[in-house]
Amino acid sequence: MAEHAYVARALEEAHRRNPTEPEFLQAVDEVFETIGPAIKRHPEFEQGRILERLLEPERIISFRVPWLDDRNRVQVNRGYRVEFNSALGPYKGGLRFHPSVNQSILKFLGFEQIFKNALTGLSLGGGKGGSDFDPKGKSDNEVMRFCQSFMTELARHIGESTDVPAGDIGVGAREIGYMFGQYKRLRNEFTGALTGKGLLWGGSEIRTEATGYGLVYFAHEMLATKGDSLAGKTCIVSGSGNVAQYAVQKLIHEHARVVAMSDSGGFIHDPEGINAEKLEWILELKNVRRGRISQYAEHFRGATFTAVNGKTNPLWSIKADGAFPCATQNEISFEDAKRLVKNGVKFIGEGSNMPIVNEGVAHLLDHGVLLAPAKASNAGGVATSGLEMAQNSQRQAWSRETIDQELRRIMHDIHAACARTAAEYGQPGNYMLGANVAALLKVGRAMLEQGVV
Ligand code: NDP
Repeated sequence: MAEHAYVARALEEAHRRNPTEPEFLQAVDEVFETIGPAIKRHPEFEQGRILERLLEPERIISFRVPWLDDRNRVQVNRGYRVEFNSALGPYKGGLRFHPSVNQSILKFLGFEQIFKNALTGLSLGGGKGGSDFDPKGKSDNEVMRFCQSFMTELARHIGESTDVPAGDIGVGAREIGYMFGQYKRLRNEFTGALTGKGLLWGGSEIRTEATGYGLVYFAHEMLATKGDSLAGKTCIVSGSGNVAQYAVQKLIHEHARVVAMSDSGGFIHDPEGINAEKLEWILELKNVRRGRISQYAEHFRGATFTAVNGKTNPLWSIKADGAFPCATQNEISFEDAKRLVKNGVKFIGEGSNMPIVNEGVAHLLDHGVLLAPAKASNAGGVATSGLEMAQNSQRQAWSRETIDQELRRIMHDIHAACARTAAEYGQPGNYMLGANVAALLKVGRAMLEQGVV
């Protein structure tokens, strides 16, 4: 429970106003748990009712997405865009296509995004959107027709200086391509209203890799504070999508030994380690053939596959030095967190947003696990999207080396800001507190300076 009276009041009010939005409330609880000391030092935040204003999205758009499947039957999905906060810049945040998508999940992601984007140091507000459409098992033509219908409505609300969506779960290069094509056709203009574009048509080098690479850069910084490195460390990674793929690639560069990856069907365990060649095979399996991770165990000798369908995930029981959840929210339960501690895990880098239930986070911090919170450690993706926006405005394309260097610098700076703030507030090493407070101070000040809007 939040200790500061104003924080406790605002939190209570948030619970009263959003009783049907558990994921959103979980994200709010996690932030409010840590910000009491900052609010105490900044009474002007209470006078300006910054917390109440932060909790209310500036705008939520919800719309019908009708489309025709390959058998010419009408299908109907629900689309959303949550334009949460524009104090620091145009709304920015991904689009998620997954059957579980609802307003609560998008509000949790949008709320997190405000803080994450503030940490990048770029001029980016926070937003998130998506649909309960499931691209899995659909033909390319079905995905295209859905994306076109989705964009026909979304195009009214976005723009390079207004709101700039990107990808997230279920939205990769293919989906961004179809949506950009439709946006361009409707507006009759070629502008950077989406990021994650193809390299031939305004996309940025390293954007595809950025979230995974940035996550590992953050882990590298975190271990360096203890005079340690990733070299030789055994790591487990969940997911096998965009973030997981490039986190594993960078972990391999850093000479870590990755022994597990997963998808929604279960996980593979390869005690020998996933090397660069095996990872290439996974990239082809997932990005081209759109296959299942279980096929890895059929292909590579010595690897096993375990199906998962329960509240706890035995993936987190594999003994490892480091864990990188890169699939989805709440993928590490309290039981999983206890097991990780028992098995001696030393560091965790959150690739997915809110991967650990709040009791799990508390347990891990109590046991001295170095924990990189998503809003800091997976900010490399949105930061590189910010760089894509800058290149689009200049009609220029920067080199791979320039962008990788910028990404490293940004992750270094985010780490430093979190570490510095945590120390300043008497909790050195508590990156959760550091990230939440550093971001809140920035967004809150900007809101105060812009008046009551
Ligand atoms: P992808 O769709 O590329 O990959 C998601 C992976 O997670 C897949 O392997 C998928 O398995 C698995 N997964 C998804 N949902 C579930 C579930 N409910 N249970 C178990 N496994 C699941 O998404 P991304 O890699 O882009 O995103 C992963 C996480 O990273 C998300 O939390 C996202 O918000 C976060 N993130 C992504 C950024 C980006 O730049 N892409 C930026 C910052 C954060 P399957 O294919 O079987 O569904």
